[in-house]
Amino acid sequence: MKIKLWGVRGSLPTPMPGDCFADKIRKALTLARPGDISSEESIDAFIRSLPFSIRATYGGNTTAIQVVTGSGDLIIIDCGSGLRMLGHELVKGDFGKGKGIATVLISHTHWDHIQGIPFFAPLYIKGNRFNFYSAFPDLKKRLEYQQAYSHFPVSFDYLPAIKEFFTLESDEELHVNDTKIVNKLMPHPGAAYGFRIEDMGRVLVYTGDCEFNIDEIDHIENYRNFFSNADVVIFDTQYTFEESIDKLEFGHSSASIAIDIAGMFDAKRLILFHHEPNYNDEKLESVLFNAKTYLSMNAGRVKGMQVDIAYEGMEIQL
Ligand SMILES: [Zn+2]
Ligand SMILES: [Zn+2]
Repeated sequence: MKIKLWGVRGSLPTPMPGDCFADKIRKALTLARPGDISSEESIDAFIRSLPFSIRATYGGNTTAIQVVTGSGDLIIIDCGSGLRMLGHELVKGDFGKGKGIATVLISHTHWDHIQGIPFFAPLYIKGNRFNFYSAFPDLKKRLEYQQAYSHFPVSFDYLPAIKEFFTLESDEELHVNDTKIVNKLMPHPGAAYGFRIEDMGRVLVYTGDCEFNIDEIDHIENYRNFFSNADVVIFDTQYTFEESIDKLEFGHSSASIAIDIAGMFDAKRLILFHHEPNYNDEKLESVLFNAKTYLSMNAGRVKGMQVDIAYEGMEIQL
């Protein structure tokens, strides 16, 4: 399966402040030597050599993930503001002709997981079909409420694409051709559900929003089937460890607890996700650095697991 991350921020879309651009250019120029800017090639090589936080940005759009299965089926996981750019990409193909079909998995309806829907161009094209799956029997009502006239000028029902709603029982298996999808209730205020996607022998686990604190770790064996032997785990690690203690019951985890859990269940790769809106690119780079330090300190327990941090546009081939 092919995975692309279109939105990786948690809670609130977070555009980069204007003065950050000048700051990045200043830092890059400070590091440049005359040979680095002597030709197009040397400039490209120099840019590639810069730390990610200087040459790029992790991105400010909220959660939206595109999965294309081995059978070519499109699965969209969560519909935060990153969904808008995915929509622009999709309308270049079948969705632009009203012939697109997608399975949409909604972890929960906090704003950062549904706010891209009113701006998703394929929903405005007749003939496209979206099958919405969630554990919430009233999901359609919740999406209609988001687009009540007092909140948005176009109602959800007006959107001409076909929109079907299916309610998943907890732990229920859903099959899309040869792809198996299992949902799992996560510890999160108001309830959120993670999804485990198995396709062509590969496993993607998406936790959705989740707070694995000390109390929840006592019950971690309940999550073994959900996490076990994943090729990739995309984990809500909104807070640093220190902040997660200050913000108990805010509903989010830290990188260190994610490493503990993903490592415990033999994940091959962990992706830190759902970034805190108050963290800039430098801070997120330090989150990754600290996570890698924690990982190396626990190398005996986590058996060669790789840790990366999500950025907008990140692609993963499984
Ligand atoms: Zn969230
Ligand atoms: Zn949430």
